[in-house]
Amino acid sequence: MTERPLSEIKFLVLHHSVTSKDATIDQIREMHIARGYSDIGYHYLINSGGLKEGRGIGFRGAHALSEKAPYLNTDMNRAGVGLCIIGDFSEGPPDDALINEAAFTVKRIAGKLGIKLDRKHIIPHGSVSYTACPGKGTMEKLYAKLEI
Ligand SMILES: [Zn+2]
Repeated sequence: MTERPLSEIKFLVLHHSVTSKDATIDQIREMHIARGYSDIGYHYLINSGGLKEGRGIGFRGAHALSEKAPYLNTDMNRAGVGLCIIGDFSEGPPDDALINEAAFTVKRIAGKLGIKLDRKHIIPHGSVSYTACPGKGTMEKLYAKLEI
């Protein structure tokens, strides 16, 4: 894995795992390694049990290519922190408890790393890549909870 200085981190990129909500970190890690990644692609993951660590924050992630404007040519795997909400929210957003957990985690990570708490820096995977990740209504519900 490629190391990166924490000072280059400017974005927090939200994902969903598109798995069962009961999927474990080890199961998601195995899926990513099977895709050829050297480790789990995300830096952090959350479920109803709280925050879990993925790959180390000091390493470039493997969670977001940036082929869409306005983030085109930004190496989001280097400039971003990948935060995955475990579950499949393709049909609708996480429940209130999980959104509360996500909002708490976003604030904590953003505060710790100096990421601006606004919609330009707390972003859905789908704003940088051609994907619906992190699902339907997830960001709207998260932004509302964050009051941003
Ligand atoms: Zn994603």
